Amino acid sequence: MLIGKTAQQGMMFLYICRKNSFIMQKKTLMLWLGLSLGITSQAQTTLKTTPKLPNKPKLVIGIVVDQMRYDYLYRYASKYTNGGFKRLMGEGFNCRNHHYDYVPTVTAAGHAAIFTGSVPAVDGIVGNEWFDQKAGRTVYCVEDSTVKTIGADTKAGLMSPKNLLVSTITDQLKIANNFQSKTIGIALKDRGAILPAGHTANAAYWFDSKDGHWITSSFYMKDLPTWVKDFNGKKIPQKYIAQGWNTLLPIEQYTESTPDDQAHEGKLSGEQKPVFPHELAAQAGVNLLEVIRSTPYGNSLTKDFALAAIQNEQLGKGSQTDFLTVSFSSTDYVGHAFGPNSIEAEDTYLRLDKDIAELLSFLDGYVGKENVLVFLSADHGVADVPGFWQAHKLPAGTLDGAAMATAVKNALNASFGEGNYIKADENNQFYLNHALLKARKISVSQVYEVIRETLLQRNDVADVIDLQHISESSIPTYQQGYVRNGFNPRRSGDILYFLNPSWFTGRSTGTTHGSVYRYDTHVPLLWYGWKIKHGETSQRTNISDIAPTVADLLSILEPNGSVGNVITEVVK
Ligand SMILES: [Zn+2]
Repeated sequence: MLIGKTAQQGMMFLYICRKNSFIMQKKTLMLWLGLSLGITSQAQTTLKTTPKLPNKPKLVIGIVVDQMRYDYLYRYASKYTNGGFKRLMGEGFNCRNHHYDYVPTVTAAGHAAIFTGSVPAVDGIVGNEWFDQKAGRTVYCVEDSTVKTIGADTKAGLMSPKNLLVSTITDQLKIANNFQSKTIGIALKDRGAILPAGHTANAAYWFDSKDGHWITSSFYMKDLPTWVKDFNGKKIPQKYIAQGWNTLLPIEQYTESTPDDQAHEGKLSGEQKPVFPHELAAQAGVNLLEVIRSTPYGNSLTKDFALAAIQNEQLGKGSQTDFLTVSFSSTDYVGHAFGPNSIEAEDTYLRLDKDIAELLSFLDGYVGKENVLVFLSADHGVADVPGFWQAHKLPAGTLDGAAMATAVKNALNASFGEGNYIKADENNQFYLNHALLKARKISVSQVYEVIRETLLQRNDVADVIDLQHISESSIPTYQQGYVRNGFNPRRSGDILYFLNPSWFTGRSTGTTHGSVYRYDTHVPLLWYGWKIKHGETSQRTNISDIAPTVADLLSILEPNGSVGNVITEVVK
């Protein structure tokens, strides 16, 4: 009874203090509490000197929207629900001026940079593919022939994070609490699941279209968990595809986008025209389920699987913080095919907004918003379709990569005699045949001079850079920094060519990304939930700042290759 009365008095005292003054003298409170609760003076000392243990969120969710440009947050805002992107912006913190600061701006490099707080120069993920001079072949970022596919009889699971040279924020979380956290990565794309989840992940799952199953590799486990097998057994991809793809809203309401039928839009498998309704029919030689990637249903399927993972793995219900990474890949496939100004892209974002709203509302009931830390960003942006720009008298275009390669080959043969001087062209970088150059006593600089002179005759090439002498190039200093951050001496090429803004190597339909320009570097960064106050900043932030900021919020060490800074406005 005495304790009850004391506690009651204590509460009353706190109430009065709060009412009278927000600034509560800590010493006075401790002394008063100590006296009224009968705590000895020794215990009081302990109370005073023991630092307050940092509170942790129960669950961190890192969301990547593949190819989401910053401006999409606003362009479609009038049609977004209140529960998705607008909720993240309205209740969370918005870093409006958030950029990549390296090239190439592509999926694998982006996912690695977000979760390692690093850049390709350090983390080693210099592209989706790069040429391996030692092996004499192009390698894929997450390929691993030493592991087995788990969950399918295909080669889609021969993957692991072994090419990632550094730790991720998800790894650091596990190291911080002796591997008690659960960390899981999910994406349709293998690299979108594997790189964020890191080396110590409990699991990474990606999509194999052969049977429409979520699979993994023996790097993570020997057999799929029962819940994953059950999920696969439900044949959800087949159900989505059977619906066909029509617009969520009446098509005349898509006023932010160009009319549906455009010559510069790509077509889905089996289609005659790039128009709604997309029937999602089978095409000879292509697995029907593959088409789900290029529809908003690929994102919905990812959301369905993420919700199943949270519930079945009881993420956020353990004693330590768990970490789920979810990458929505379909925005990228749709964006590549139809471009940012298409009704298809708009519809995909309106539907993703609903998927994100469903995820946030689920979290409300599951652990509560106050117990979950969410951040959302993108792995790169994208260029508008050149055909769309040309139609509006804007400068843009595509160049024929094969013709350019022939011109370079001819120039090198004319200068140095017949020979195979270039082994590969990956990520706009030429990998030279160093053995041949050595045998013929030709220097890289000599080759560079010939290639530069040849390519600068074209009006679509902005500049050519000798990657051993980046600072000697005539490109602006900030672009030199981007090139340096993307250059890894063992994995990058020798000579880089820059195209003009809004130009890329490609075909007449669709679009791509990978450049140093703003449309490829400017992506959203939203923070939401535990400890996050509402606000926004237009101060420049870099993609490598995300992981150090998460580390600061969680009071854990940054990933070992991190080069970013804590975004102080988010954590204060
Ligand atoms: Zn892409």
